Amino acid sequence: MKRLVRGPAGAPAGGRRSARRVVAGRLLHDDVVVRDEQAAVEPAVALRRIAFLLERALEPSFKVRAFRRAAATVDGLDLAELRRLSSGDGLRALPGVGEVTERVIREALAGEVPVYLRRLESIEGTPVVEGAAALRAALRGDCHCHSDWSDGGSDIREMAEAARDLGHEYMALTDHSPRLKVARGLSAERLREQLKVVAALNEELAPFRILTGIEVDILEDGSLDQEDELLERLDVVVASVHSKLSMDRAAMTRRMVRAVRNPRSDILGHPTGRLITGGRGRRAESSFDAEALFAACAETGTAVEVNSRPERQDPPKRLLRLAIEVGCLIAIDTDAHAPGQLDWQISGCERAFLCGATAERIVNALPAEALLTWTASTR
Ligand SMILES: [Zn+2]
Ligand SMILES: [Zn+2]
Repeated sequence: MKRLVRGPAGAPAGGRRSARRVVAGRLLHDDVVVRDEQAAVEPAVALRRIAFLLERALEPSFKVRAFRRAAATVDGLDLAELRRLSSGDGLRALPGVGEVTERVIREALAGEVPVYLRRLESIEGTPVVEGAAALRAALRGDCHCHSDWSDGGSDIREMAEAARDLGHEYMALTDHSPRLKVARGLSAERLREQLKVVAALNEELAPFRILTGIEVDILEDGSLDQEDELLERLDVVVASVHSKLSMDRAAMTRRMVRAVRNPRSDILGHPTGRLITGGRGRRAESSFDAEALFAACAETGTAVEVNSRPERQDPPKRLLRLAIEVGCLIAIDTDAHAPGQLDWQISGCERAFLCGATAERIVNALPAEALLTWTASTR
């Protein structure tokens, strides 16, 4: 298991990991279960409050409606009836009650403030721009960038100088791996060559630091597309799916879980692979069991990337909330392919803020040394 260690004074106290226990097949954190400390909330009140807060957070109206619809259903039932239904699978049979709203109702019935509501309440009162800016200010680097060694548009020095001028202390250079031929993925030999170039540049650019890295393809069987020996030497390994994105759910879950469990992977890149806008057109999310995947990430300390590219915005907010809820570490990266794109982090920060992320669990809010201690801890 990869753990964060506390950085120097003033650094985020990364890695506060709560004790976890598995309840009814899903992860439940001790730190998000609240009993008796706060007044119990009626299920319908909780559902309507969630709808209100989602609207405030600019969530699409179809999503908000789901909570109001569930609230309207719950209005017609008394608490005793709801309790009876919740002892089995009865809640799910109610009109308008789905997986998320069922969980909210169950938690409210158990006298807890539902986790979903608590996450939303935790950002209530802070303007979104302020919350996003605070997260951005906490970032010390970027863990996912490309150069013209693969499919980026600029050389390594130009990328590094742009990152430095944005105030970053480091930038992980994560060019593509061999099988991604369309992106001129680096063979083992070229990557070894790149490591020498980075070492020379680092002498010049110190104290700024280019961290060595790779965006390694997650192959169909979940293995990683580069030699183990090289992956072990690199500072940062981002593992991403770039091929067979529409494979069936069970196979994709196995594939991705295997990749995040690989001790050499540090960050899961653009988790769903979706494209929502832009020149490459649209692409649906890959289908996988997100609870199982994020549980594996939380367990092994593999961070989930918040990819800031406008055409990706990956993972979508509902999945990012889930990742945060189950205790995953987060990396807010740009996936920049050109220097100006290194400034896209603010959009990832905005989504992370809206989903309840705090600097304590963001790996690139760590100073370089602490980040490297974290990545090295499972190599
Ligand atoms: Zn990628
Ligand atoms: Zn990339």
